[in-house]
Amino acid sequence: MIPSCYLRGLRLSSPWRSRVRISANVNRQGMPRPAAIRHAPLFSRSANIRTYTSESVLSPVDEEDPLGILLSEYKGNSQIPPATHEIKDLQNAELGERVVLHGYLGNRHELSKKFSFVPLIGKDLNQIVQVVSDREYAGNAHSRFRLEQTNSPVAIEGVVKKRKSAKKGRHQSKFKRHEFAIEDVEIWLKKYTPLNTFPKTTQFDKDTVFHSHQRHLQLRSSRELLDALKFRAKVGAICRDELGNKQDFLEVETPLLFKSTPEGAREFLVPTRTKGLAYALPQSPQQYKQTLMASGIPKYYQIAKCFRDEDLRADRQPEFTQLDLEMSFAGAEDVMDCIEGLIRRLWSEMLSQTLPLKFPRMTYNEAMAKYGSDKPDIRLGMEISRIDHLLPADLISKIGPHAFPAVDVFKLRLEDTPPSKVSRLISNFMKSPEARPFIENPDGQPGVAVIDSSKPLRGLQIFGFEAAERLEEDLGLEDGDVIMIQARKDEPFSGGSTKIGQLRLALHKAAVAAGYLPQPEGFKFLWINDFPLFSPTNDTDPGQGGTAGLASTHHPFTAPKTAEDVDLLATDPAAARADHYDIVVNGVELGGGSRRIHRAEVQEWIMREVLKMKPERIEDFRHLLDILSAGCPPHAGIALGFDRLIAVMLGKESVRDVIAFPKSGKGEDMLVKSPNEVTKEQLEVYHLQLKD
Ligand code: ASP
Repeated sequence: MIPSCYLRGLRLSSPWRSRVRISANVNRQGMPRPAAIRHAPLFSRSANIRTYTSESVLSPVDEEDPLGILLSEYKGNSQIPPATHEIKDLQNAELGERVVLHGYLGNRHELSKKFSFVPLIGKDLNQIVQVVSDREYAGNAHSRFRLEQTNSPVAIEGVVKKRKSAKKGRHQSKFKRHEFAIEDVEIWLKKYTPLNTFPKTTQFDKDTVFHSHQRHLQLRSSRELLDALKFRAKVGAICRDELGNKQDFLEVETPLLFKSTPEGAREFLVPTRTKGLAYALPQSPQQYKQTLMASGIPKYYQIAKCFRDEDLRADRQPEFTQLDLEMSFAGAEDVMDCIEGLIRRLWSEMLSQTLPLKFPRMTYNEAMAKYGSDKPDIRLGMEISRIDHLLPADLISKIGPHAFPAVDVFKLRLEDTPPSKVSRLISNFMKSPEARPFIENPDGQPGVAVIDSSKPLRGLQIFGFEAAERLEEDLGLEDGDVIMIQARKDEPFSGGSTKIGQLRLALHKAAVAAGYLPQPEGFKFLWINDFPLFSPTNDTDPGQGGTAGLASTHHPFTAPKTAEDVDLLATDPAAARADHYDIVVNGVELGGGSRRIHRAEVQEWIMREVLKMKPERIEDFRHLLDILSAGCPPHAGIALGFDRLIAVMLGKESVRDVIAFPKSGKGEDMLVKSPNEVTKEQLEVYHLQLKD
């Protein structure tokens, strides 16, 4: 069905009426009925109708034959008059020259029925020029032009004239997005070809906020979004140049229809028409890239699509992009060198910033102890330290349920803020929903003290004289400083953060939002390494499904770091460290990688004896074990989250701002409305049945 809004110049009282009229001429497939084609007069006029000139015949009969007009225009659209100029090049056009321009119509400014100004916006939405439509000059083309909707695409033919009353910057006002605003000349309309319509009912101005089901209009109305996509494409091109041209990496595409293997994340299955058989979408190209290492390709890279059916957290996408690479006869240092070089080049060429030659390194344990996070934002300071050895026993017994807890502290300093104001900020924060997870912490609530010389022991009386003195000294406390203390179970770190680490971030954010601290600036990169090879299994990540209570921290192909860690595999696997490195910037994990286990027997032994995976699950990896056993050299690699990389470079809060068609927080694509329900027919084709 042709939507009613496509009926040019039709003045009908309701969309329903227009539908009735169309259906008279169109069959069910939306094709004109033979009867309509027999409307000889209509088509004999088509040459006049599809391009409007001063001589165009505009009889009332046309208005009565909307389908005819539509189809005639549409026939004209197959050969758009070629543009003679880009709008931005009009500076070079001669006065009096006849030009053809392509673009979208801006808001019409009608001085009278006979005279109007309409800005023409270039096809990249970045250029603008004024079109003058004058009845005297353009004849019937003017009368037609008046009916065209703002935002419709057109090809305009007109004459370049000096613009007399040019008000500088006037064009800039609408979306503030036109880099090239032609101010000195204007185009006097002679002829134009309408190329499509735009719905009259869609409001479209600089303040319109479009819903995500109108992603095309979000993109069209936001310079920022389009710029982000352009930026992303440039970063991709630099990555290809650096890796592909400069460093001899081979770009290889790996399959998207892969196989289900217990690599670590939950997968998406793709059922096939063969009963009981399914592909899985790759959570990463990991197993294929290791295969390439065994295939004699020394350096591989790819900008790869990956799929993970994970619980959707704020900024997670079920489908995302990685810059993925792998190198044979190589180890962690080679990979880290390569990434440092690439990132330095990206920051220099795209952001004009010089990064250090080498990024600092920090072990996982140090990051967790000092920042309560395995992806610390070291710009914030506020280092955490352990103070349980300083505290009186009776205080320790009150601050949490554990008999011998670890107790951590950090200090927040707000420059030039008196204790009373600091106390207000803290109390507002503690009352806010953001503080809820800390108040409900099963390890006990956080303790707060604001240093205030007007109070006994400067506000630290709860700690007792001795501990208060030590704290003041160790933390270098000044009036107005806040200290936060938090108990936790005294056990080795696991997972990505501690509660006090989360509290550090939340409090900093609240202080910035309240205007007490500046927004942190710059980029602080660091490598986190010496992760535990295995972590305790949890309910959220499927892991490898082993029964040892352990899952691989990175993935099951990661090698133990040293000879000592290899020995620990047999005696105390939870204590073994991995040759795994994450690259972190400003509290964001940009990517991670590892040296791999390249010996099949070791890989199989770890799966069987350490993770205690079932034999049938190990068989899912038989292809990889066979590949490794066929003389696979030592190898190492990494993947950077490409969406995240772009978001970080552009300072965007969300990866959605740098993805053309992102999924919502619920994993839905609102534009195409996916996922959609599986039909009965599809269920049958795939031999599937829905459970009640
Ligand atoms: N495949 C890994 C991931 O997706 C990256 C790597 O180890 O190279 O995190």
